Amino acid sequence: MKNEMAMFCYQCEQTAGGKGCTRMGVCGKDPEVAALQDLLIYQLKGIGFYGQRILSEGGNIDDSVHSFVAQSLFYTLTNVNFDADRFVRMIDRSAQLKRELAERSRSVSSNIPAAAGYQPPAEKDRMIDEGRELGVLSDDLPEDILSLRELVLYGLKGLAAYAHHAEVLGYTDRSLNEFFYRALDFTLGDDHSVAAYVDMALEVGRQNLRCMELLDRANTDRFGNPEPTEVLVTRKKGPFIVVSGHDLYDLTTILEQTEGTGINVYTHGELLPANAYPELKRYNHLIGNYGGAWQDQQKEFDEIPGCVVMTTNCIQKPRESYSDRIFTTGPAGWPEVSHISGEGSDKDFSEVIARARELGGWSEDEKEKRITIGFGHNAVLAEADRIVEAVQEGKISHFFLIGGCDGARGRRSYYEELADTVPGDAIILTLACGKYRFNKKDFGTVAGLPRLLDVGQCNDAHSAIRVASALAEAFDCDVNELPLSLVLSWYEQKAVSILLSLFALDIRGIRLGPTLPAFVSPGVLDALVENFDVQPTTTPEEDLEALLG
Ligand code: SF4
Ligand code: SF4
Repeated sequence: MKNEMAMFCYQCEQTAGGKGCTRMGVCGKDPEVAALQDLLIYQLKGIGFYGQRILSEGGNIDDSVHSFVAQSLFYTLTNVNFDADRFVRMIDRSAQLKRELAERSRSVSSNIPAAAGYQPPAEKDRMIDEGRELGVLSDDLPEDILSLRELVLYGLKGLAAYAHHAEVLGYTDRSLNEFFYRALDFTLGDDHSVAAYVDMALEVGRQNLRCMELLDRANTDRFGNPEPTEVLVTRKKGPFIVVSGHDLYDLTTILEQTEGTGINVYTHGELLPANAYPELKRYNHLIGNYGGAWQDQQKEFDEIPGCVVMTTNCIQKPRESYSDRIFTTGPAGWPEVSHISGEGSDKDFSEVIARARELGGWSEDEKEKRITIGFGHNAVLAEADRIVEAVQEGKISHFFLIGGCDGARGRRSYYEELADTVPGDAIILTLACGKYRFNKKDFGTVAGLPRLLDVGQCNDAHSAIRVASALAEAFDCDVNELPLSLVLSWYEQKAVSILLSLFALDIRGIRLGPTLPAFVSPGVLDALVENFDVQPTTTPEEDLEALLG
């Protein structure tokens, strides 16, 4: 390990000192889990090598391997899984899969990269020791190449998360699955040029666009198109389960298993948009949304008289006051937190239901408040004529997309201040958990439309792109010529994949904050600024003047 660091990770926005977590993750990831995650990634690169050889020889790879690759990448996203034993099992499985793929690509006998030839040990302690040597800094690469390699890898992790969400709903795409092997194999090359890395990063962005479209189809085929919906954001008397994360399928299974039990189900975090899907809102006991973005969970779940199920990211270390009533499922995991295993509707949440009954829930109703959500592409485009007319008549002056991942840093109040400051005749589109900074405020209406339009989860960036493309078509111009400004907050790797998608669409002038990624080297940043005019956020006033100017 370089410089005797206990670990090294700089994949998210809250990385220590804006440089890298070297002793313990700010997120709670300890050096052991960091080493196991690094070892799993190393293994996936080896699987990528053999997978790519098999595919280029015209062979096929079983769906279970695709599924494992996407799931493993997802496990290593920030704030998803902190359970060392789960990683040990994943590494064991990766060793078996890699052996099988290597057997099938017998024609490969020379120039085998170290990651492909490597087999991990069977014992956890040795896995940790070896994982420590195989992390981000194990290759002596020039700064810009390392930066671009990690950009590709983190984009791939975000893409894997979306692919996993689509897959659990039964939607997969062969060329998308196969892309994972190509991209993982690519990261093993030690002689790629900067231009080749940039091309691969943009390809990750393009594949992510296809994946977000696939996931949109999966969600809307299964649950209908989101429609404008008033959602309760205050507490109701009675026992309850709070479901957090991003997984609509897990939420459905919980709704089915709690139907008729008298238990209310609240969404939390990125599951708020679920309340707008017709096939989910038909459950009367999907009562509303509790709380805000992920970084407030320790406060919000403290002493909670109900249960919490974390389906995906973002989980934080549970406080003792609720460690006996929080559960994980799917990719999410925390050591010693009960995990509901199984697949799809086979998952059995009866333990959660029994505990929610025991805890009894809130004893009285809170004063009721509702917010309006559900402005996915279908709902917004239904108003397209009205919007175009209002722009032509000068009633709507500008569109702002203010959204992305939220995080704990104080500088994130920027997004709320910006939303408060934009002109009164501007529309604010928002998505992902960054919206919790301002989504309970009343922004009024413009041209008969709400000024704040909640587009949905982070993957619903696809919806925002469709809206922007439709507006560009209506005004017969390029998206970059629209009166539209994108002011995005990033936190983890899903945001990286979305950013790459926006670059792949050649969308320029994005404002990005609250800080720039630590893994982006000065050289790569210069290239991003030059090619895409991406700018760090400054102050709301300064940025607003520049954007409106
Ligand atoms: S995910 Fe973020 S906070 Fe966690 S160890 Fe990595 S850089 Fe640090
Ligand atoms: S949008 Fe990003 S930061 Fe927010 S809950 Fe989802 S994964 Fe976490």
